[in-house]
Amino acid sequence: MTPALKDDEPIQIMGAGLSGLAAAIILGKAGREVHVHDIRADSGARFDGDFQGLENWTSDTDFLDELREWGINPDEFKTTDFHSVNVIHPDGVILEAWSPDVAFRVIERGTSSHTIDQGLKRQAIDAGAQIHYKSRVKPEDCHIIAAGPKETSAVAFGEIFETDYPDHVAFHLNDKLAPGAYAYLIVIDGIGLICTCLWRKQSKSERFLNETIAYYDEHYPELKRRPIKRVGGKGDFSLPEKYTHEGRHYVGEAGGMQDFMWGFGMRYAITSGVFAAKDILGELEYDKEVKRQILPTIKTSIANRWLMNRVGNRAFKRIGLNWFKDQNKRQDGLPYIAKIFRPDLKRKIVFNLFGRWMLEKKQAEDGRTYRRLPFRGSLKRDGWEPSEAGKAVGQQWRNTRKSGGTTSFSEEE
Ligand SMILES: Cc1cc2nc3c(=O)[nH]c(=O)nc-3n(C[C@H](O)[C@H](O)[C@H](O)COP(=O)(O)OP(=O)(O)OC[C@H]3O[C@@H](n4cnc5c(N)ncnc54)[C@H](O)[C@@H]3O)c2cc1C
Repeated sequence: MTPALKDDEPIQIMGAGLSGLAAAIILGKAGREVHVHDIRADSGARFDGDFQGLENWTSDTDFLDELREWGINPDEFKTTDFHSVNVIHPDGVILEAWSPDVAFRVIERGTSSHTIDQGLKRQAIDAGAQIHYKSRVKPEDCHIIAAGPKETSAVAFGEIFETDYPDHVAFHLNDKLAPGAYAYLIVIDGIGLICTCLWRKQSKSERFLNETIAYYDEHYPELKRRPIKRVGGKGDFSLPEKYTHEGRHYVGEAGGMQDFMWGFGMRYAITSGVFAAKDILGELEYDKEVKRQILPTIKTSIANRWLMNRVGNRAFKRIGLNWFKDQNKRQDGLPYIAKIFRPDLKRKIVFNLFGRWMLEKKQAEDGRTYRRLPFRGSLKRDGWEPSEAGKAVGQQWRNTRKSGGTTSFSEEE
């Protein structure tokens, strides 16, 4: 068992991703000796240049203001504000969701200096933290476990390309292209990403990405993609019984801080890293704070996931239509999404009656017990044949690969 920390005892963190680095910044700034260990060669190496959306709808406080309040400087990484997004219905109708407030920001993951990973890493080092890459440590020797996902509940993969298209985000609810989830297009400063998320496990899963890209080629002809590489990763959705076990705080995805419905886990990851650090500094109790501030929204997302697992394109279309009705009424599209993500009585009931029971009970090697979302099997309707356009996208990628295009993710990872 990890003994209670003395004030001069060095703090060991496992994982130099978002949650681990956030904890390191807080602890380093408070004058504590901090060591962060990561098995990879650098922070962000797991992602290699893909764009992700930093949501701004689970709280009334703007997340960048929250970061500044904690002493984390968001100007250290590139963020692109978005007030609007194209929402694409399953039947191809494209509508624009819009808000006077910043609905979300796009950041880049990876090892380039403007990524969020590198921005947090610089701040952790400036605060005095020592980061040890390619370092394998035992969990029982660490005080904070921030090692990201372990098992697979869902996967996302996409293609990065050059384009002359202006900055843009499209969010695509389509159960064929993205089983149980959604696909998306993001363009920032001449670099594009088309991605699909699979909440049901598939054989020959590349066809989902190829078909998604073929869709965007047809509906956004000005994109004129010049493929660079393919990227992706897995999501691990779990609900632990406790967030602190034998004195160790479990943060980020390693601690189940994820959005079960759509996978917007970054904000939870950073917030939980900050809370764990503040617990060590004696400013709050980690489990209590997670249960008060994060868990209710996670439970809401579990209820939403249970509901999503029961529907298909028809319900996705209804969600889209209701969204726009609400947007027209309020002249703001954000409250509708915020309402879906935030706790309410209906979702509390769905969580307690159904949501929690779709999770499998598991025990980790260290004795922790948790429930985790299994990677569902495919449905009959997932067994479609690729279109000619989808096949052509696949062939284009194979040619790009021959001339040096890389894939940073395999389903076996
Ligand atoms: C393709 C994809 C797209 C996504 N898009 C979005 C999005 O748009 N918006 C959003 O909010 N979220 C998104 N997410 C989720 C988001 O990336 C995660 O929720 C977030 O990165 C979790 O942060 P973390 O600190 O837990 O893990 P990470 O940031 O992944 O950091 C974990 C670190 O631990 C290291 N590590 C692993 N094992 C060990 C070990 N044994 N010892 C030491 N170190 C170890 C890893 O190398 C890594 O550096 C996406 C995820 C994927 C896969």
